[in-house]
Amino acid sequence: MNSARPSIRVAVIGAGPGGLTAASLLARQGFQVDVFERLSRVGGRNGWFKTPEYTFDIGPTFFMMPFLLEEIFRECGRNLEDYVQLTDLDPLYSLSYPDGSVYHPSRHPEKAKASLRGIVPSDADAFDRYMSYHERKMDAIMPCLSIPYDRPWHMLRPKLLKAAPLLGWPRSLWRELGRFYRDDRIKLGFTFQSKYLGMSPFTCPALFSILSFTEYKWGIYHVRGGLNSLSLAQEKLAREMGARIHLNTDVSQVMVGKGRATGLRFADGRTEPFDEIVMNADFAWGMKNLFPDTLRRRYTDRRLASKKYSCSTFMLYLGLDTRYDHLEHHNVFIAPDYRANLRSIETGGPLSENISFYVQNASKTDPTLAPPNHSTIYVLVPTSNLRVGSVDWTQHKTRFRDLIVKLLEERAGLKGLSQHIHFEKAVSPLDWENEMRVGYGATFNLAHNIGQMLVFRPHNRFEEFKNMWLTGGGTHPGSGLPTIYESGRIVAKCLSDKYR
Ligand SMILES: Cc1cc2nc3c(=O)[nH]c(=O)nc-3n(C[C@H](O)[C@H](O)[C@H](O)COP(=O)(O)OP(=O)(O)OC[C@H]3O[C@@H](n4cnc5c(N)ncnc54)[C@H](O)[C@@H]3O)c2cc1C
Repeated sequence: MNSARPSIRVAVIGAGPGGLTAASLLARQGFQVDVFERLSRVGGRNGWFKTPEYTFDIGPTFFMMPFLLEEIFRECGRNLEDYVQLTDLDPLYSLSYPDGSVYHPSRHPEKAKASLRGIVPSDADAFDRYMSYHERKMDAIMPCLSIPYDRPWHMLRPKLLKAAPLLGWPRSLWRELGRFYRDDRIKLGFTFQSKYLGMSPFTCPALFSILSFTEYKWGIYHVRGGLNSLSLAQEKLAREMGARIHLNTDVSQVMVGKGRATGLRFADGRTEPFDEIVMNADFAWGMKNLFPDTLRRRYTDRRLASKKYSCSTFMLYLGLDTRYDHLEHHNVFIAPDYRANLRSIETGGPLSENISFYVQNASKTDPTLAPPNHSTIYVLVPTSNLRVGSVDWTQHKTRFRDLIVKLLEERAGLKGLSQHIHFEKAVSPLDWENEMRVGYGATFNLAHNIGQMLVFRPHNRFEEFKNMWLTGGGTHPGSGLPTIYESGRIVAKCLSDKYR
């Protein structure tokens, strides 16, 4: 550990992926770092829960662009591969359309094209063009995401100006893919990834066609033990770098005076002064609950309510005394009328049977998650967030769970599923807000529309209070593990520059 700045005390609120990234890098640079996490474990949404038999990831199941986390470990003088074991998945997932056709994307171009050819032969020919265009697009955009945007003139940075013609603005993601593919099923196969940001491809900006590209280019990885193993690895790294992690420690308020953050108040009434404070708690929840409304200018309660948020998710975690090996590791099932489904999610429509859903069958790849001949099934159903939705989840949780089990049996072919459920847990949008402190239950944070990106997204160098920094999915560059790691890295870099 470097001890160049032992007298500068940094507090990090929350041990999610962003908080742990910032903590490791700052501790490595010699700052005195204390991480405060209200739960009894690290990882936030990238955490886990266990029963005596089963282990479940709570949130992330797709680990993409692992080289970014590898770089962060390397900056700390460590190798990620000494901490976790990665499996490169092939096929990446299966995508089942309502007409019964199935697409199996692969990072091996010939395999991807063969699967496309099985659905629409003419569209398969566009795959190479799609890849070479996106090589250029990604090369231009990547460098723009690893730098802060906290001044208006940052929008004129040469890197961003150079990338601008490739952003595709003001096209939607759907229209962007229409430049390559004709068939709606294939377009869906390359645009449904906007759900990783909690958005619809019809309103998501064209820029995000890079999401599907990253899958083909760098693959999708499983981590042995579940993706929560990444959080455990980050915890170990942070401690090795000298950061102190205080679990079961709930921050109740950020103390501010004369426009600057001065310290923290904890739920037990204790207070502690700090030189710098990094917030990794969910942005919408943290703003509302850690700072009095009257002290905020840009992010008042009223303004927070007027922002656009990602969708929420209904989750079902099942421990089974059987295995369904016909499923891939990742499986996506598209709604019979996907346009209506996406519209309903965005506008807060009523619950219906017309839903898309994702099923993870991780036991196919990883024997550590369940006993022999048992398996774990993780189901994610995108739903409206609590900002636009009006579903009373206290009334409808069980009914929706029953509908999902029926769809798993009928559409996903999990025959006799109900008889094999050994353990189950359901999480509704309301649970995300109440138990996990996710504002509006918007599991993927603020939406990624152009008006809420780059300089228009909450800045990593927080604009409301001096000495205050933000990391996590609700901040620049955005939601999703790779960008969240970048947000932690940007914060560490800015703080390091400040004290250079
Ligand atoms: C269901 C789901 C699926 C996802 N799937 C993927 C995926 O496949 N791939 C991917 O890349 N991304 C995925 N994501 C998105 C994203 O990667 C995760 O949500 C990620 O965990 C967010 O990280 P974060 O740094 O914003 O912090 P969070 O995970 O939100 O952690 C914040 C931490 O702060 C703590 N905290 C909050 N308030 C306080 C307080 N007052 N005092 C102390 N501690 C506090 C919380 O307990 C929590 O531990 C998914 C998200 C969800 C919800």
